[in-house]
Amino acid sequence: MKKMIIAIDGPAGAGKSSIAKRIASEMGIEYIDTGAMYRAVTLKLIRLKCSLNDTDRIKEILDMTDIDFFSDHIYLDGENVSSMIRTSEVNRYVSEVSAIPIVRNKLVTFQRAIGKNKSIIMDGRDIGTNVFPDADYKFFLTASLEERTFRRWLEIKEKGFDDSLQDIQREIEKRDKADMERELNPLCKSEEAIEIDTTGKNMDKVVEEMLFYLKE
Ligand code: C5P
Repeated sequence: MKKMIIAIDGPAGAGKSSIAKRIASEMGIEYIDTGAMYRAVTLKLIRLKCSLNDTDRIKEILDMTDIDFFSDHIYLDGENVSSMIRTSEVNRYVSEVSAIPIVRNKLVTFQRAIGKNKSIIMDGRDIGTNVFPDADYKFFLTASLEERTFRRWLEIKEKGFDDSLQDIQREIEKRDKADMERELNPLCKSEEAIEIDTTGKNMDKVVEEMLFYLKE
């Protein structure tokens, strides 16, 4: 198979990662979750109590930060932080951290390097517009705010947390607004991206629809 880059962007809770994982396994290619990278950096800055205005310190920390993926888990400096990056504290700060230019610079460089020599499916907010503007396929997934909130709530509940629907909706709205309004690489649909509204759709149907485009 020819080397292929598939980009998936969209707002929080649109189903990007579960869909991307399914497509990756169907196609036998690697799935890269870029949101997890921004979350890992956020976790590290929180742990080190670093001020988000202290650019010099952030740069120093980034220079000593190692992020890696291994069988569906993300490792921060060798530690598996896959569940720790999903806490409400990380949710609260991740959009602010991801708007910091040196953070984006480091992670975008890393993301491009991952896709240099192999086929990948990568999801995030700026993959089709900025990380891989020449991606072979670009998708933009959306869903109504209510449905995205409900899906997040179910996910969180399965992990044993009991955040209210109202709190989750507020957090999603706040994060989307920040991600769409930031100066650098904001969340937006690339002109060529195929937009799929997943509201009320079964995931199998969405995967099927996307595979249809990919196998064309
Ligand atoms: O995908 P997920 O919801 O885990 O992403 C967490 C946050 O990381 C987003 O709300 C956004 O602020 C940031 N992000 C980004 N660019 C990406 C992926 C995620 O700014 N490519």
